[in-house]
Amino acid sequence: MNHETLALQWRRTKIIATLGPASDSPLMISQLLEAGVNVVRLNMSHGDHDSHRLLFKRVRAAAKRQNRNVAILMDLCGPKIRVGKFRAGRIMLTDGQRVTVTCRNTLGDDGLIPSQYRHLYKDAKKGERILLDDGNLELCVLSIKGTEVNCRVIHGGILKDHKGMNLPDSDLSTSAFTAKDKKDALLAMALGADFVALSFVRNAKDITRLRRFMTRHGNAIPVISKIERPEAVENIDEILVESYGIMVARGDLGIELPAEQVPMIQRDLIKRARRAYVPVIVATQMLESMITHSRPTRAEVGDVASAAHSSADAVMLSGETASGQYPVEAVQTMVKIVREIERHQWRDGRYGSQVFADRRKPGFSNREAVAHAALELARDLKLQAIIVPTLSGTTAQVLAAHRATASMVGVCSRESVCRRLSLHWGVIPVHLVTPDHQDWRDMCHRIEAQCALTRPGHTVLVVAGFNADPALNEPVLKMMQL
Ligand code: PEP
Repeated sequence: MNHETLALQWRRTKIIATLGPASDSPLMISQLLEAGVNVVRLNMSHGDHDSHRLLFKRVRAAAKRQNRNVAILMDLCGPKIRVGKFRAGRIMLTDGQRVTVTCRNTLGDDGLIPSQYRHLYKDAKKGERILLDDGNLELCVLSIKGTEVNCRVIHGGILKDHKGMNLPDSDLSTSAFTAKDKKDALLAMALGADFVALSFVRNAKDITRLRRFMTRHGNAIPVISKIERPEAVENIDEILVESYGIMVARGDLGIELPAEQVPMIQRDLIKRARRAYVPVIVATQMLESMITHSRPTRAEVGDVASAAHSSADAVMLSGETASGQYPVEAVQTMVKIVREIERHQWRDGRYGSQVFADRRKPGFSNREAVAHAALELARDLKLQAIIVPTLSGTTAQVLAAHRATASMVGVCSRESVCRRLSLHWGVIPVHLVTPDHQDWRDMCHRIEAQCALTRPGHTVLVVAGFNADPALNEPVLKMMQL
């Protein structure tokens, strides 16, 4: 194996697959993991607790059988606003027509749209937009009388039962953490999920509310904040401080904001998340056409490639694996695309842009200086591997954000930390039952046997000692010949 083949053996960009009716069998789950899924997403918007419990067990069993570190992300649906039911199951909206959106509990009919969100009349203001059915239909608020919101149809079409409703201009008074989310969070805690995702996050308080709830009921699970509201984009810095990770949830984000703004927001969020050592997921419609076709469109290939090129930690599949006809092929396609990008990046000697402060300027922290030194050393000496013994995952998390050209192995004695590291860009999690941090040579030999990254005689770099509290950092860099 030549240097390049050895270096590119392990994929850097991680893959998340959503389970659903197309992928809930033990066989399909096994095939998805074999194809390269690193994190499995259970979407709490669908299914009941019994079905999630069963899927959870199946994923854990398949991962164990295949000896893989696979994380499970349980995605809380949050305050997804929907219309109610119509007498005939649907109504037709025509451009210019006047309609009433009512907060009363009633069946809809021509000119009358029931809202499942009972506070709509308090939150919507004259002149604001109400978007329906993934933004395909648009209303403009004319006036509010009691619980009735009178609107004009701007873009009409057919509106069916329970279609989604977005209020991109309104200040929503509803909490991002609903009563259903509470029940679902308790299930995630009881099962021992690796991550919970919180939908429609607006600010840091939304996350602390969820975390406080989980702490009160046991142990808080790391939170992935879904960025899909305009306020979340504005408040991203405080959200990054409180989140374990973020997800660029482009489905709702592209409705709440003009879709043409989403690509640059995506790039900006990736940079900011990396700077905060926070893993970032790019989600939704990545290979949408593969729900019904065995091959993606060229544009979709470009979209996945662009997310990998800007070095997102992970790319996510939703309907493609949950309800599509080609779940395994969708994962295989994603693997091929990101590997191709990574090959080019490796040859260029750079994965993603430089996001950390210039080291010649003030503000370059000790931690960044050590991480920078480790990466430079590994690059200059063409080392195949950086070995990171890590207790809480912090050292691996910090180094991962720097996007090293050498492969990085996160070695940990806690299986939960190994599973969590499976989300992070470029980290190969290795579970060693008793990693003796004093005998790093022995540890490196054991890793060599598991990862096949190095050969006897090769030199590796061992980096350890970053702490979640930077004041307690005691970094160690050690070069070791195997
Ligand atoms: C999204 O809106 O892009 C998203 C990932 O959320 P959900 O699938 O829950 O709608």
